[in-house]
Amino acid sequence: MPVGIHPSVDKGFKPGDDNFKGGTLTCKCASNPVTVKITGQSAHNHACGCTKCWKPEGAVFSVVAVVPRDNLSVTANGNKLKVVDANATIQRHACTGCGVHMYGRVENTKHPFYGLDFIHTELSKEQGWSAPQFAAFVSSIIESGFPPSEMNAVRSRLRELKLEPYDCLSPSLMDYIATHIAKASGVLKA
Ligand SMILES: [Zn+2]
Ligand SMILES: [Zn+2]
Repeated sequence: MPVGIHPSVDKGFKPGDDNFKGGTLTCKCASNPVTVKITGQSAHNHACGCTKCWKPEGAVFSVVAVVPRDNLSVTANGNKLKVVDANATIQRHACTGCGVHMYGRVENTKHPFYGLDFIHTELSKEQGWSAPQFAAFVSSIIESGFPPSEMNAVRSRLRELKLEPYDCLSPSLMDYIATHIAKASGVLKA
């Protein structure tokens, strides 16, 4: 029995559909659920081991992707949403009924990820969302109580699932952030 990562990747997963048009995220409330409509495909989908992302009961990692903020709209029961931590870089809008994070938004216009919203595509019934590509903040699962002695098993399992484990973000995203910072400081010409 391999170590569990997240229910949507543990049995393997399909590649995304290039023609995917988006879908609706629904929280887990039995009545009056919050719904969020996404137009278009998600990007940079990945498993995340940080302590802040929402994950389903029992999962060691979250699975989280981004979409342009203009492609996201709250379509029902938005009054149930509350920002978990207003001081966090990513402001996670959680349902006060069931605790699910419906989207995370970067409000700092200077941040490299400004303009992107973070979403959990598992909250949608539609099939075809972009597939997870890597695992971020892997070492951070220890901060949530995962036994350090089992980290080798976790990293092996992630590699088996073709989710290369990184202890921060993937190299391409780290390069993207550094490029943004270098352009902002003038070290790199735009
Ligand atoms: Zn809810
Ligand atoms: Zn995270």
